[in-house]
Amino acid sequence: MKIGALTEVFEGEARVAITPSSAAHLQKLGHEVFVEGGAGVRSGFSDDDYRAAGVTVEPGAAALIGAVDVVAKVRQPTEEELHQMKDGQTLISFFYPGQNPELLALAKDKGVTAIAMDMVPRISRAQKMDALSSMANIAGYRSVIEAANNFGRFFTGQVTAAGKVPPAKVLVVGAGVAGLAAIGTSVSLGAQVYAFDVRPEVAEQIESMGAEFVFLDFEEQAQDGAATGGYAAPSSPEFREKQLAKFRELAPQMDVVITTALIPGRDAPKLWTRDMVEAMKPGSVIVDLAAEKGGNCELTIPDERFVTENGVTIIGYTDFPSRMGTQASELYGNNIRHFMTDLTPKKDGVIDHNMEDDVIRGATVTHDHDVTWPPPPPKIA
Ligand code: NAD
Repeated sequence: MKIGALTEVFEGEARVAITPSSAAHLQKLGHEVFVEGGAGVRSGFSDDDYRAAGVTVEPGAAALIGAVDVVAKVRQPTEEELHQMKDGQTLISFFYPGQNPELLALAKDKGVTAIAMDMVPRISRAQKMDALSSMANIAGYRSVIEAANNFGRFFTGQVTAAGKVPPAKVLVVGAGVAGLAAIGTSVSLGAQVYAFDVRPEVAEQIESMGAEFVFLDFEEQAQDGAATGGYAAPSSPEFREKQLAKFRELAPQMDVVITTALIPGRDAPKLWTRDMVEAMKPGSVIVDLAAEKGGNCELTIPDERFVTENGVTIIGYTDFPSRMGTQASELYGNNIRHFMTDLTPKKDGVIDHNMEDDVIRGATVTHDHDVTWPPPPPKIA
């Protein structure tokens, strides 16, 4: 089959869905690989890099879509892109079907098989295709780099001839994939790291990474936050009050706060309130990775960085993976090629879209002129 990557049209998006190295793997599966001219430039891959990897470069989006059976993208498709696709073609990209019913209807009407990388089941077998995790990992890492870049001091403690420097104190709120990456990066820079999550089962992971789990004096902590699939549930008002009281106590001591708390299908919980920001020391930094979902910090402005009157920098960027376009494209390109490996079981360039397979079924949101989302629950956990 022929598979090709489009140039991303979302403003500022630097990633690309196929890299020269992932193209080589796709070719080993028997596929012919294409890219739209310039698709990789913002992530550091020139058209010549692709040509050297045996990839055909098409002059524009229409030519690329016209040339291939499978269109690969990073961001959800635009209506225009979907309109250009034809019956029987496959699209593989982030899709967020729950938030995009109109795109889902359009893909169905066009007869496009849409594979949503955000719908890959989060089971062990599918970890190599889990683009939500690979991108969250990058976001967590980059959040610390952004924080360090905006913090006027060392992260690590030092004893120098010119004076003794204490380590920076970093609090990470939410220890999912992004939070754990932020913890690991902060620890590796030498900071003293504290972390909190409503899921107490992450305490061990946090501590094994060299950070301190912030326990609440609340007997329900062991139950609160437990929900299906390992995701968090909204907290009870009593739990939330305890949590906020703890954060109020920590706010004046912290130099950097990185918030990553999310609850599926809801706005981000507001956990870092205005009075906590006001209680922080001048020069402190907040990076709010939940900005796209409204932010965990009450003052976050999505896509902006600003300094408060009391000298606290608040960063609400929503494009952390794109800020590391090369790395993000490499990992996302790998996620895609692993998915294509499952779609090409005989490695003969022939796609077998096996709807009996939990991973393929789970990620397929439209197929054969049908909306196939939401999928039935997976048979294997
Ligand atoms: P997420 O992005 O949905 O949420 C981030 C974190 O915020 C979660 O750890 C959540 O517990 C936390 N949170 C929510 N409300 C909070 C609050 N009020 N205060 C503090 N923290 C709060 O999470 P994610 O990174 O997508 O991971 C979700 C789950 O999926 C985790 O259990 C993770 O281990 C699991 N997972 C499994 C696999 C796999 O292949 N098995 C892969 C990736 C993730």
